[in-house]
Amino acid sequence: MSPVSAGNVCVVSIVHLEQALIAGELRLHYQPKINMRSGQVVGMEALLRWQHPEYGLLLPGQFLPQIERHDLIIAIGNWVIDQALAQIHAWRIAGLTLSVSVNLAVRQLQHPNFLTGLRASLDAYPDLPQQSLELEILESAALDNTQQVRAVIVACRDWGIGFALDDFGTGYASLSYLREIPADVLKIDRSFIADLLDDGDDLILVEAVIGLAKAFRRGVVAEGVETAEQGLMLMRLGCDVAQGFGIARPMPAAEVPGWVAQYHPDAQWSLWADIPWEMEDFPLLVAKYDHISWVRCVLNHLDGDDLQLAQTELSDHHQCRFGHWYDHQGLERYGHLPIFRELAPIHQAVHRLGPEIVRLHAQGETERARALAVELLDARDRILERLDDLQRSVVREPTGPRMFREKPGRADQDDAHKPLHAESRLSAHRRGKPLILVVDDVPTNIELLAGVLSPFYQIKFATHGARALELADCPEKPDLILLDVMMPGMDGYEVCRRLKENPATRGIPVIFITARSESADQIRGFNCGAVDYIAKPLELPVVVARVRTHLNLKLRTDLLEAQASIDALTGIPNRRRFDETFRQEWRRSARNLMPMSLLMIDVDHFKAFNDRYGHGAGDECLRQVGIALSASQLRPGDLVARYGGEEFAVILPGCHSAGAHTIAERVRQIVESLNLAHDDSPVAPCVTISLGCATLKPSMDSDPGELFLHADAALYRAKQQGRNRVVVAV
Ligand code: GH3
Ligand code: MG
Ligand code: MG
Repeated sequence: MSPVSAGNVCVVSIVHLEQALIAGELRLHYQPKINMRSGQVVGMEALLRWQHPEYGLLLPGQFLPQIERHDLIIAIGNWVIDQALAQIHAWRIAGLTLSVSVNLAVRQLQHPNFLTGLRASLDAYPDLPQQSLELEILESAALDNTQQVRAVIVACRDWGIGFALDDFGTGYASLSYLREIPADVLKIDRSFIADLLDDGDDLILVEAVIGLAKAFRRGVVAEGVETAEQGLMLMRLGCDVAQGFGIARPMPAAEVPGWVAQYHPDAQWSLWADIPWEMEDFPLLVAKYDHISWVRCVLNHLDGDDLQLAQTELSDHHQCRFGHWYDHQGLERYGHLPIFRELAPIHQAVHRLGPEIVRLHAQGETERARALAVELLDARDRILERLDDLQRSVVREPTGPRMFREKPGRADQDDAHKPLHAESRLSAHRRGKPLILVVDDVPTNIELLAGVLSPFYQIKFATHGARALELADCPEKPDLILLDVMMPGMDGYEVCRRLKENPATRGIPVIFITARSESADQIRGFNCGAVDYIAKPLELPVVVARVRTHLNLKLRTDLLEAQASIDALTGIPNRRRFDETFRQEWRRSARNLMPMSLLMIDVDHFKAFNDRYGHGAGDECLRQVGIALSASQLRPGDLVARYGGEEFAVILPGCHSAGAHTIAERVRQIVESLNLAHDDSPVAPCVTISLGCATLKPSMDSDPGELFLHADAALYRAKQQGRNRVVVAV
């Protein structure tokens, strides 16, 4: 028979429990409370367990409700207090100073002998320091009998015992109640923490409780913290002390010293420890979660739930909660920032999509509604991205209290982060700092990484795969990508695979950052083309060191690559670079439905030049022609290359035939005007060139070789027609 069959309530009798108390089957387990900001263990909460000989370890919910109205609960409560005191004492002897909080039942607290009993228990340990013991009572328990509770709390206070209101937020405490009950600490109920990051209302509630605690000068503890992100959000809201499975599960007393000795707070918490959050930016956080929940309402409706939005909230972008924020607090505080203004058109689109989805759904056009839902999600993500940007921009404002923390030791580390080749012509160095793209669906992770890397590198970020691919394949390419593996939608492996598939992004090193550290996962990452793998939880110095190593490798490779695609004689791009660019530009033009032109150039009677002036002079002549060509003021995307021997080529992406002809003629004149003597040329007294010019509109499946053949054929005709001229392919 399972004791947890009837609604988690154990069907054991009071007699059994009484025997269990006598037989020593009850236990206390201890759950640590942590100050996330300082990293200190601030105390332990004692939690009752019943080591049942038949059913195993039982939780209080499985046996306590049955004795709530029975005096046995007082006996057990007293045992808990004595046990906790004995434990505090034992730890002290072992050199460990820990305070312990104990949960009180209402009946126990209201018992006329409660204070006398407690005093006797305390007297058994005369040298116990103040504040070693704390008592927790349910918010609801204290509601019924405010006067008596107040009297008990006041008396306990004199003895150095603190009081906490447990499960705060679930009862109906009023402001006057809070004034009456002099509890030292409010414990925010775990149910609010669970949805802290998904539910705007819970976020507001938690913020309000923290605000109340501050206003009444009480401490505040968050229960049920399960993830580092929740912890970070709580710190941000002003609650630094937390307990929960994310920190530690309750454990037997014997395990406590070992746990305390090895405990390290989460790296994210330490990193943000001395950053004072501005509560003026709180509405921004709320707006974010309001928007998430608005979109969720629409999507849930599509899945069959009732629509939880009023008609105006659905269709009018000024009437939803996000819209309210945008029009008022948002506009006032961020109106001057361009990123803020980018939100408006997307938000309007959201309010066109929402009602349309609802309408289609009502008409039974589920397929079409679902198609629009995908667009809605995309719009939501674009809004969230901008909100995260906005958050970042306010945290990093360079002056005032919101300034980003200077990392200790930054000055002496600086040298190590200097690019290897200060005078290189690589893109990273033109921009000053190398550019790192951080991809993670959790904005706080991005903030964390940006925090340690931004002193040395430029940071761009993306919160989903599609955006990462977009940012990787733009003219200002990142030098390195830090890529989270687990992301909703396209995961990191897929992002990496696509990056490596695209010749334009193939060369960017990718480091995976992930909680999945099985070797199979690592191998999968490397197979996708990653250069390295960093496991979560992140050790930030390790991240910085690895990023530095891979960036330096990348910069070296870039330099070698650049050298490998430069022609040694003329210093302009060589045939290799030409081929690469030619293919790339062909594809790009196909994508953009733009034409592309190519000039093929050959020096006239160059053999005769060599024969007359010698090869050394010939080389010098080619150098001059090369330099003149590359200085001929083309557009930034154009490329002049030495194709081989005395042949040159010019790629003109997006250039129409007429434009290409004009450029070709200009180039011809430029070379002629160099006026390099060529006495043996039958064409002119100086060095001249012939040019073939061709233009095509590429399509994705067409062959770039075609354009080349046209241009080459035109060059051939230019030679035939007398040289020193341009011929346009027909
Ligand atoms: P055309 O007007 O028909 O192009 O006549 P051409 O003499 O220029 O053409 P041809 O292809 O017969 O000769 C090209 C010459 O260019 C022969 C080759 O030695 C010379 N050449 C090719 N590369 C170099 C180089 O790097 N340095 C020097 N000095 N000469 C080169
Ligand atoms: Mg030739
Ligand atoms: Mg020639």
